[in-house]
This record gives sequence, C-alpha cells and structure tokens, in this order.
Amino acid sequence: KNDQLDQWDREAFFHPSTHLAQHARGESANRIVTGGKGVYIEDRDGKKLLDAFAGLYCVNVGYGRTEIADAIAEQAKELAYYHAYVGHGTEASIKLAKMIVDRAPENMSKVYFGLGGSDANETNVKLIWYYNNILGRPEKKKIISRWRGYHGSGLMTGSLTGLELFHKKFDLPLAQVVHTEAPYYYRRPDLAMSEEQFTAHCVAELEALIEREGADTIAAFIGEPVLGTGGIVPPPAGYWVAIQKVLRKHDILLVADEVVTGFGRLGSMFGSIHYDMEPDLITIAKGLTSAYAPLSGSIVGKKMWDVLERGTDENGPIGHGWTYSAHPIGAAAGIANLELVDKLGLVKNAGETGAYFVNAMRDAIGDHAHVGEVRGEGLLCAVEFVKERESRQFFDASDKIGPQMAAALLEQGVIGRAMPQGDILGFAPPLCLTREEADTIVDATAQAVKSVFKG
Ligand code: PLP
Repeated sequence: KNDQLDQWDREAFFHPSTHLAQHARGESANRIVTGGKGVYIEDRDGKKLLDAFAGLYCVNVGYGRTEIADAIAEQAKELAYYHAYVGHGTEASIKLAKMIVDRAPENMSKVYFGLGGSDANETNVKLIWYYNNILGRPEKKKIISRWRGYHGSGLMTGSLTGLELFHKKFDLPLAQVVHTEAPYYYRRPDLAMSEEQFTAHCVAELEALIEREGADTIAAFIGEPVLGTGGIVPPPAGYWVAIQKVLRKHDILLVADEVVTGFGRLGSMFGSIHYDMEPDLITIAKGLTSAYAPLSGSIVGKKMWDVLERGTDENGPIGHGWTYSAHPIGAAAGIANLELVDKLGLVKNAGETGAYFVNAMRDAIGDHAHVGEVRGEGLLCAVEFVKERESRQFFDASDKIGPQMAAALLEQGVIGRAMPQGDILGFAPPLCLTREEADTIVDATAQAVKSVFKG
C-alpha cells in the first residue's frame, strides 16, 4: 500500500530506533498493526502473524484479553487520573502495590511506580544515591553493570546498558557507570572452561573491578536474571549466588532488572526466585500489565527501606516523581493482568511450554552447520548463528544473517527478533503459548534457516 496513512507516517512520525539512512532512501515501510488475538497479531492488510516476541517481550497474557480492556474502561470512566504524590492515592494503585509485594521475593517491601522500564531504573539509581546519602557516604556512587546488559535508553539507563549502539554519539556511558564481563558461557574466553569455572572467572573479573575502582566508590550492581536484549543468555551454573556473595562482602546493593523476567517468563514468578537472588531493588515493567497500559515499578527491599525511612525533616520530600507515577489506568490494567496470570496458570505454562519449545528448537536445527547454539530458559529462547561451529567464528556484520533470518521467518508468518549484537534470533512469545503454537514457530524457524543458508 502507499496511501494517505503511509504518507502521514513518513511525513510526521519519527519512530523509535529509526535507521535514518534507510529512512532517507525511502526503505522504511512500516507494518501498521490493527488487531491481535492470543499469540497472533493482524495488520491492516488482514495478514495474520504469530508474534513470537510478544511485542517487545511484554504482551505476556497474549492479545485481545477483554478482561483487561474492561478493567481499563471501567477505571477510565470512574476516574481516569489522579496523581499519586504524597498525601494522595487511588484505589487501583494501592491494591496493585499490595498484589506486587505479595508476589515478590520475601525481603521486598514497597513499590515506587513509574511508566516504563527505563524510568524505573532511573528511579533505582536515585533511590540508591539517596540511601547512601542518608548513610553519610555520598561518594559510594558508581553502578556496575554488565556488557550486553539492557536497562533502558535514557542518559543514566543508556549508560547502564552495555551495548555500544546506545553509547556512541551520546557521550555515554556517564562517569558513574562501570561495566563488567557478561556471563556469556558460549562466548567464554577459554572453551575448556566448565560452567562453574566460567562463573568463577566472572566473579574474579568483578572482584578485580571492585579492587580497581575501590569498594567505597561502588553503590550497586545491576543485572537482568537472564541477559535479554544483549542476546538472551541464561547465566552459567551458580552465577547469581556467587556474584551476590561478593556484593554483600563489599556492601554493594543488588538491583535485579526484571523488566523482562518479572511475572513469570522464566517459569517462576520472578527471575530472582528462579536463581536464588536476594536483590535490594527489583525493576518491573512489561509483564506487570502485559503492556495493555504503560506502568513500571521499583520494588524496594526492606534493607533499603529501613534506611530511607530515616530521611530527615531538613531534606524534605524525595525530589523524584513523575506526573504519571502509579497512573490509575495502568494500575487497573495491572490488577486485571496479574489476576489473569494466576487464573490461566501462565507461570507454570511458561516453565513447561518453554522447556518443550527450547528442546523442540534444538532438535529441529541444533545440528545445523551454522547454528552455534540454541539456548533458553522458560519462554525465552535464542538461536545464535556462526560462520563456523568449531571456532564459533562470527559472520561478517555485512552478511546481516540475523536480520535476514528475522525476515525469512516473517515470510513464514512468524515474528522473531534479530537481537542488536551478533547474529542472534530471539524468541519471547506470550506466556499463553501452546505446544502446537511452539511447533509452528520451530517449523517456521527451520524453514527460515533452510532458505537463508540455501547456498
Ligand atoms: N530493562 C530491561 C531488562 C529491558 O528489557 C527494557 C526494555 O526492553 C528496559 C529495562 C527498558 O524498558 P522501557 O523500554 O519500558 O523503558
């Protein structure tokens, strides 16, 4: 089509992540999505596609859930907005805070609401700095993040993100952020290392970084339980427990960024529970409302809250908040969404169907000459393509294998995602995925692999 809507799109709409050169050459046609049901979306030409990435790993309950739509409509009719600044609240946001804390790991205390994952991580950093100020050690300020981590694309959160694309041209990372090694076993420095040895290597790298920077300058460590946008990489055995031990020793807080893993994606309610993490802060967004409305949160652990509570009168209120913090429509969506997650048993399904899906993917293409690894946890799965299996050599960037693979998959009617670094095809389908739908994704991927490597 090349109609009025396409024209307005080109004229007036600056899309996130636009490839500006492609846009200038007129190569950037956008699919205009008009509907969705279950794991399928539909575009305005009536084409149905199986969305094996749940939007941006967020539509966890699937599309077209009228329970959530009705809850949103009711809230909008009753009270579309009132702010949540101190002295005020709305029924929905208070109820949702309680539901979140009830589902969170044991030592969690309170929810500070935001809009999206990026602003929630901004909130985390400010709360961490505030906490260290109250403790009289404002110089304990740096945040350690991992290469390949994704924590948002603002100035601080883009700094925490460990992907070059988010740094270059923006003078990032900011000085208060330092990066350490990604727990990426497939890309370990020495192939002879066992998972346990690689974990020990990551821990040694972290300890060396802390030593170099000085523990009294480091406030916190942030990480996704499973690296997401950086390649969908589950951690090696024992990683989180070992990392946590080092952090405790140096009085460094742990932030679990559970924007992707929160509310069931790994087959546990939280990734922190899945990997025995005891975070001081948990970032939540996406699966909190299944993206039916924007809402995020920072779940503050008891240890931090006990200190924050000591704030002095002379400091006044914390200088932090958004107009839309705890927006009642987002909160109503969150309540209906979490009720649906429980009612449909989606956490359990993510674990069971996830295991089935990753195994089926491995069986179908795991032996292919250009498939280096099929990996996953719960309903997160990645296929990493390599030029040569033995050496694990990357394809040249100009080969664009990742994008070609996503395009070939689309030809088969399935949406996967070419991850931004390396030739990695990622999957994060809605948590209501059935085995039949998992088979459809696997068959389509096998076809895509065949067509891209037909030479
Ligand atoms: N943290 C993680 C782990 C994410 O995957 C994302 C987004 O993909 C974010 C934070 C940022 O969330 P948002 O895009 O809602 O700002």
